[in-house]
Amino acid sequence: MSLKKQPCFISLSAFLFLILLCLFYPAIPAWSAPQKQTFNIGILTLHATHQHQLEDSPWQLTIDRLNQYSKYHFNTVFLPPNKLTNALENDELDFIITDAFNYLILEKKHDVLRMLTRTELFDGEYISSEALSIFTMNNNSEVTRISDLQGKRIALLENEYSTSELFLEKFLNIHDLNIGENVDLLVLERFDLTQSWLKEGKIDALITKSGLLEKQLDKTTLETLRLVYPRRGRHAPFLHSSVLVPEWAFARAWFINDEIVNQIITILISHKKNDHVNYLSEQYHWTFAQKYHGLAELFALSREMETAQSPPPSSLSVKLKYWLSFLIICFLLVILIMYLRSSRDLNNRLKTSKESLELEIKERQHAQEQALTHQAELAHVARLSTMGEMASGLAHELNQPLSAIHTYVQGCIRLLKMDKHDPEAIINALQLTAQQADRAGGIIRRLRSFVRKGESHKTYTDINHIVNEVTGFLESQLHNKQVNLTLDLKEDLPPVLADIIQIEQVLINLLKNGIEAMSGNEQPAITVVTRRKDNKLVELCVIDSGHGISEDKLKQIFNPFFTTKTSGMGMGLSISSSIIEAHDGKLYAENNPVSGARFCFTLPVTEELVTEQPVTKEYLGNNNNE
Ligand code: ADP
Repeated sequence: MSLKKQPCFISLSAFLFLILLCLFYPAIPAWSAPQKQTFNIGILTLHATHQHQLEDSPWQLTIDRLNQYSKYHFNTVFLPPNKLTNALENDELDFIITDAFNYLILEKKHDVLRMLTRTELFDGEYISSEALSIFTMNNNSEVTRISDLQGKRIALLENEYSTSELFLEKFLNIHDLNIGENVDLLVLERFDLTQSWLKEGKIDALITKSGLLEKQLDKTTLETLRLVYPRRGRHAPFLHSSVLVPEWAFARAWFINDEIVNQIITILISHKKNDHVNYLSEQYHWTFAQKYHGLAELFALSREMETAQSPPPSSLSVKLKYWLSFLIICFLLVILIMYLRSSRDLNNRLKTSKESLELEIKERQHAQEQALTHQAELAHVARLSTMGEMASGLAHELNQPLSAIHTYVQGCIRLLKMDKHDPEAIINALQLTAQQADRAGGIIRRLRSFVRKGESHKTYTDINHIVNEVTGFLESQLHNKQVNLTLDLKEDLPPVLADIIQIEQVLINLLKNGIEAMSGNEQPAITVVTRRKDNKLVELCVIDSGHGISEDKLKQIFNPFFTTKTSGMGMGLSISSSIIEAHDGKLYAENNPVSGARFCFTLPVTEELVTEQPVTKEYLGNNNNE
C-alpha cells in the first residue's frame, strides 16, 4: 500500500468507527452503569378503555419521584380489577395502587399490605377519606331517603380515580337496594350529560364522589340540587350520603422486603416546599396508611365482599350437587315410604293381635264363668249327695222333736179331758211343743239352706261359727260312728270374707273323709283346730286318727275322680280345693306324726280388719242370720 493512499484509509476507518459509535451509543451507558432492580406497580383502572398513558394519570408524579430518588426502577401497568388480582396471583406485581374495596379483597386473598393512603385536597386540607354523595332535584319530593331510590333510575358519575361502582353497590345493599333488581343504574363519565339528565327527569338521582359536585358547579346550579341523607363525619369536611371509606391505597406484595418499603415511604412522604415533584400533584398527596373510618359498616361490607369473592362453583359441581341432593331426597322418600308401610303393617298386626287378645280374654272370662257355674253346680250336687247320705241321720234328728211334739200334744189332750184341768200345765206343755216345733223347723231350714242352689255370696264371717254350725249338722253322724270330736277353736279370730255355705261344704267333706278314714278304729277321734297364721291368715285343720295317706297318693288326692273308696266319686277334695282357691286360700294335706292325717285350709283375713281386733259381735250376728 502506497503512502498516498494512507490518508484515505484513515479517514475511511474513522468514518466507519463513527458509524459504529453512533449505532451502539445507546447501549454504552447500560454497560458502563450498574443495572437498577426493577419493580412492577399494578394500578387499578376501572374501564378497559382507560388503558391510558401514565402521563395523563395523577400517578405520574408518584412514579417519577420514585424512579428519580430511589435506587430502583418502577414500571407501571394499568389493570382492571380481575386482571389486577390475576397478576398478583402470578407474582407479576410487586406493588399495587387500588381503591379501598379492591384493597380489602386483595388483603384478604393475597396478603397485600397497605403502606400509604392517598389524600386529596379539599378546601385547602388534605383528606384521606372519601364517600358518595347522592343528589336529586330540589323539587323531587319522591326521594327524601336512600331507601326511596327503590324502583328508581340512578346514574353514577364515575371518576377514574375515585372509589367505584362496587362501593355504590355495597352501600345500596345495606339499604336493601340491589342494582338491576330494584334499582336501575347507569354509569356515566360525562359530567354535563348526567346533570342535564337529572334536570330533565331521565334519572332520579345522581351519585358522585363526595365534594366533586361542589367543586364543579356554580352556586346557583348547586342550589337546584338536594343531597339525599346529608351527613358530615369527623374525618371529612364535605357533606356526603354514604359511609366514609379510606382513599386509595399504595400497597406492597407480601414478599417485598422492608428496606424497599422504607425507601418508598420516605420518598413519597417527605417533601420540600416548592419541590413540585414532591407532590403527587397539587390535588393529590400520599400519607401514612390510614385506619379505615366507618369501620363497623365497612366490615359488614367486607364480609359481603368476601362471600361475593368466593369462587363460583363450577357447573360440574353444581350439577353434582343437584344430583346428590336429588338422590338424597329420593333415598329419604324411599325410607319414608318404607317406614310408613311398615308402620301400617305393624299397626295392622297390632290391631289383629289386639282383637285376638280381646277374643281370648273374652273366651277366658267365659270359661272362668263357666267353671264357676260348674263349680257351684258340682258343690250343689255334692251337697245333695251329702244330704242323701245323711237322710237317715236327719230322719233320726227330726224324729226327736216330732216324737216330743207328739208326746206333749198327747199330754195336753189328756189334761183337757180331765174335769179339773190345770191351765198352767197345759200352757207349759204347749210352750214345750212350740219349742220342739221350732227345733224341727230349724233342722229343716238348715237343710234347705244347705242344699239351696245359688251363686257365690261372700260375707264377713267368723270361722268358728262355721265350725259350730257344721259339727252341729253332723252331730248324729258323729254320734253314730262314735267319733270323739274335740274343738280347739282360738277365740277372737278376725273375720274372713267367705261364702258360708261353700266353706261349710268344704268342712263337711273333710270331716266325712276323716270319719271314713277311721272306720274300724277302736277309738275314732277328730279334732278341729282354728288359729291365726302369719297375721294375715286364718287356718282351720281337721285332724283325724285314721289310716293316713301313703306318700305316693298324697300328690294325687286333690285330682278330680281320684278315689281309693269302692263307692267314692273322687270329687270331694277337688271341689274343696277349688272352693278354697276361689277364696284366695290354700287346702293342703299331711300325715300326722303318730297316726292319721290332717287336712288344713287357710283363708285370708280381710285387709282392713287385720288391725281391728277383737272382732265385733255385729259380724257374728249378721252371719247368724244367714
Ligand atoms: P272320695 O271321698 O269320694 O274318695 P275325695 O276327693 O273326698 O273323694 O277323696 C279322695 C281320696 O283321698 C280318698 O279316696 C282317700 O283315699 C283320700 N283321703 C281323703 N281324706 C282322707 C283322710 N282323712 N285320710 C286318709 N285318706 C283320705
